[in-house]
Amino acid sequence: MGAATGAEAFRLYQRHAPSMVLLDIALYDTDGIALAKEIRTLESSLGHSGLANWTPIIFLSTIQDEEQLAQGILAGGDDFLYKPISEVVLLAKVRAMLRIAGMQKAVHEAHRKLKETSLLDGLTNIPNRRHFDETLSIEWKRCIRQESPLSIIIGDVDFFKQFNDLYGHQAGDTCLRAVAGALNESLFRVEDTVARYGGEEFAAILPGTDSHGALAVAERMRRSARELGIPHEQGVGGLVSCSFGIATGLPSTDLAPHQLLQAADSKLYGAKRAGRNRVALDLDAIFA
Ligand code: GH3
Ligand code: MG
Ligand code: MG
Repeated sequence: MGAATGAEAFRLYQRHAPSMVLLDIALYDTDGIALAKEIRTLESSLGHSGLANWTPIIFLSTIQDEEQLAQGILAGGDDFLYKPISEVVLLAKVRAMLRIAGMQKAVHEAHRKLKETSLLDGLTNIPNRRHFDETLSIEWKRCIRQESPLSIIIGDVDFFKQFNDLYGHQAGDTCLRAVAGALNESLFRVEDTVARYGGEEFAAILPGTDSHGALAVAERMRRSARELGIPHEQGVGGLVSCSFGIATGLPSTDLAPHQLLQAADSKLYGAKRAGRNRVALDLDAIFA
């Protein structure tokens, strides 16, 4: 498709995301160099996962001016063609540029996949420990700025060693996948995250949630794991269950995320001792 003015070209570019741009240096309402800069700025603002998008830009010019060529490349152009343009040369250049663009897309895709897989737990497909740590650090800072509380829930499958011993490791894996799914579906807010924290241990981050809200979420998690109805001969009441520890804090420079994690962990230990298949809450005044 073609455009007569720079403004129209930019609109078309935004709407259709073309594979390549052929740009006359002298446009009716602007110059091609300015438009190339605009396109590059837009691309870098749309770039995700640390890689900017890239559309090949070839300038067309009537005069062979070295200064203009240097400026054009600096502005983000990839090549120059001088009019009159032979069809053979134009097609060859287009082919070369599209080949590079294709390779660049493949790199993008590989990068995206790598990022996705390195943040998700391979067995359960929910966020992994690394994802959890990164999210906690981001949400912690956000809660400091917004002066809002943050809650952490740590959950652990009860008598899971016995489950493996009774039914085998494969059944154990299937059970973990089901539990992860149930816990994940117990979170209703987009900003909440639940991750596989370790072997049969899960941890949730609830930004902007106080202890009452966290208690409700943990209860929902406990119930949904239980309602999977997975038989466990040596489990609580003959079924698989999980225990949970909660800690809520007001993030500040005096309080570190690991303190909240430790508090939730010690509450989890309390829930285990108190009989499992339950939620224990930390109401320690220093945190809330
Ligand atoms: P508690 O109720 O106190 O939590 O007891 P538990 O048996 O669940 O805890 P323990 O820490 O003694 O055992 C955890 C078990 O979880 C042992 C380990 O083999 C099993 N486990 C950890 N990761 C995996 C996994 O990825 N797959 C399977 N099948 N089992 C796992
Ligand atoms: Mg356990
Ligand atoms: Mg454990």
